[in-house]
Amino acid sequence: ELFKVDCISFSCPFFAVYQVFESVAKKYDVMNDSMTLGIHRVWKDILMHKMNPSPGTLLLDVAGGTGDIAFRFINYVRSARERQLQRKLKNHQNLSWQEISESYQEDKFKLLGDSQVVVCDINKEMLKVGKQKAQHLGYSEGLSWVLGNAEELPFDDDKFDVYTIAFGIRNVTRIDLALEEAYRVLKPGGRFLCLEFSRVSNPLLSRLYDLYSFQVIPVLGEVIAGDWKSYQYLVESIRRFPPQEELKAMIEDAGFLKVDYQNLNSGIVAIHSGFKL
Ligand code: SAM
Repeated sequence: ELFKVDCISFSCPFFAVYQVFESVAKKYDVMNDSMTLGIHRVWKDILMHKMNPSPGTLLLDVAGGTGDIAFRFINYVRSARERQLQRKLKNHQNLSWQEISESYQEDKFKLLGDSQVVVCDINKEMLKVGKQKAQHLGYSEGLSWVLGNAEELPFDDDKFDVYTIAFGIRNVTRIDLALEEAYRVLKPGGRFLCLEFSRVSNPLLSRLYDLYSFQVIPVLGEVIAGDWKSYQYLVESIRRFPPQEELKAMIEDAGFLKVDYQNLNSGIVAIHSGFKL
């Protein structure tokens, strides 16, 4: 416990981050909901709509933790394909909507086609919680879990169609290395998408947000997870993280083209996007 506190206070980045996520893993989802008032779900949905994956997409979700992005990806691909097949069938056969739906209920997993998602995270506790969630929610096809560091990904070059990192890159010790690795493992034409806390542009909102972050979040952490220090670390890591334009420049430096970003909720979070062309 003392080691953890010291690491966090004196910024010994790697072990501090590892221990923070090891200690929050079991309560991570409930804390995520309470800290963001559930809005993180909307942000993640927006990320998915931006990605709008086509059939057969191979996604790598780095710092994927408990699988939120992976599960959304699977749902998105399945329902897009379901709508597409229903439309096709409806046009060509004299079946009722109910008959069509029933036939798909029988084998829903086929709807994923050859799309696949790989969740990669450095923390085995987060992956363990994610795997349990997947089992509980019935996700198995097209989903795999890999223990690995964003700065040294255990994958071949030019492998994935899309790389996502949601609320993960600010925890990485060497962001430049993580971006280089993202570039390496993407296929030419592949897309990089990063969802992360960023800088609030509106001065009044910025003040309120600071108050909330520094006064409320550590208290919530203590009350819900009995862990003030880890949540204080999370708030501090948000403050230290480069703002929108700076991150955009770092993504360009890694070789990505057509880099842009979209602010959500006045910049509380931003989605950065870039292509390996
Ligand atoms: N992406 C998930 C989400 O949006 O709910 C989890 C985000 S959680 C705030 C941050 C995750 O980053 C943790 O699971 C942590 O273990 C992981 N992480 C931190 N440093 C990492 C690194 N160098 N490589 C891979 N994952 C890392």
